[in-house]
Amino acid sequence: MTPTLFHDLENPSQQTIALATGVTMLKGFALVDAELLLEQVREIAAISPFRHMVTPGGFGMSVGLTNCGRLGWVADRSGYRYDPVDPATGRAWPSMPAVFERLARNAADEAGFANFTPDACLVNRYEPEVRLTLHQDKNERDYDAPIVSVSLGLSARFLLGGLKRSDRTKSVPLIHVDVQVWGGPSRLRFHGVAPIR
Ligand code: FE
Repeated sequence: MTPTLFHDLENPSQQTIALATGVTMLKGFALVDAELLLEQVREIAAISPFRHMVTPGGFGMSVGLTNCGRLGWVADRSGYRYDPVDPATGRAWPSMPAVFERLARNAADEAGFANFTPDACLVNRYEPEVRLTLHQDKNERDYDAPIVSVSLGLSARFLLGGLKRSDRTKSVPLIHVDVQVWGGPSRLRFHGVAPIR
């Protein structure tokens, strides 16, 4: 099967690649918003700092995490959940910046998921050597909504698996300002990030 590929004639740095049914890579999609996104990430981290959460199994996650939006994803010894309160500050997570909401909606729309309104945004910080092991995003109550993932900064390799952990993974290069959307029949695909170089 040949991957579908479209060039945006108005913005030649953009490219849409269908990686699988329901999985779309929008190369360069966040280009015009990059500066503002990074500035907003810094503001989020000033309120709810990046931290290394501990999984229920007792392992410290190497990726640094924070959240914005009405709910934030949290891991601790009791499990994984979405929580309206940041356990590190005892207060609500910072609200979701308008640019995050707009970008997520536009990216979802471009990938065929209309009327997406994100209510949570997990911010993962990777440093060299850091990886994210294969997992499914399944702590959400509603699997109808797609996942929109925005990459900023260092290059990485996204590992796209199947619906079973043992399925073969595809290694997809991710660079600054790439945006990925997955949902529909691919919503519960295993995925991760290979160790950052
Ligand atoms: Fe995930």
